[in-house]
Amino acid sequence: MSLKSFQFSFFRLASWLTPFLVIWLLGYVGLGWLVNSFLILVGLLFLAPVLGFVWFRWWLQRNMVQAQCPVCTYELTALNRTQVQCPSCGELLKVEQGKLNRLTPPGTIDVQAVEVSAVSED
Ligand SMILES: [Zn+2]
Repeated sequence: MSLKSFQFSFFRLASWLTPFLVIWLLGYVGLGWLVNSFLILVGLLFLAPVLGFVWFRWWLQRNMVQAQCPVCTYELTALNRTQVQCPSCGELLKVEQGKLNRLTPPGTIDVQAVEVSAVSED
């Protein structure tokens, strides 16, 4: 083995050992808490996406509402406490307590808005 390749493999080994050496050194000088908090941080970084996904699924299950449109009985899925427009009849609906309610109170006469274009000549 030549000196050069020996040096090379030594540095490779050293670069591999450095993190362990640093951790050992930190633990040795009484900074084990730093190592622990670092490990906890790494653990959290791995756990966060998993927990986030589980929480999101739980949240979705709680807030996903599948109900029928009160106007045309079209079945649609919406999130709780949101407003949706029925894809079948175009009625604006409000999702409340797992039910779909019309945004406009019953008895309201729907008036189609007509755009009036005023042409000004100047
Ligand atoms: Zn509808």
